[in-house]
Amino acid sequence: MIRCPNCNREQPDSILTCDCGFNLQVYAEKREAERRKHNTVTRPYQVLPILFLVLRLIGILSMLGGLIYGLSLYAQEESAWLMAGAFFGGILAGLPYFALSEVLIILLHMSEKQDKMILALEKIEEKG
Ligand SMILES: [Zn+2]
Repeated sequence: MIRCPNCNREQPDSILTCDCGFNLQVYAEKREAERRKHNTVTRPYQVLPILFLVLRLIGILSMLGGLIYGLSLYAQEESAWLMAGAFFGGILAGLPYFALSEVLIILLHMSEKQDKMILALEKIEEKG
């Protein structure tokens, strides 16, 4: 159902022109375009893949940082313990980012499913 903005009467979606002469087709298309624009802005899974990549990158960088720091420590101090410590420190620092990126992947799949559910519900509503 669509409510005519001119006379405020409910009309079936299939009707192109309202009883009052108002062009409902143009109005419905505008409303649909507005709704789509709104949907793409609020859809979280368009931002999530970027966040996922950023988190993975931070995780890799912190691991690399630990490795490089460990190697430079080994060159300066010639201590394998310091090197191993820095290396594992880097891995430990990177782990939360990897864990977060995994959580994001789960969220991503969930929001995709949710979107499909909403689309299916909308189709059912249109039929009814
Ligand atoms: Zn009307």
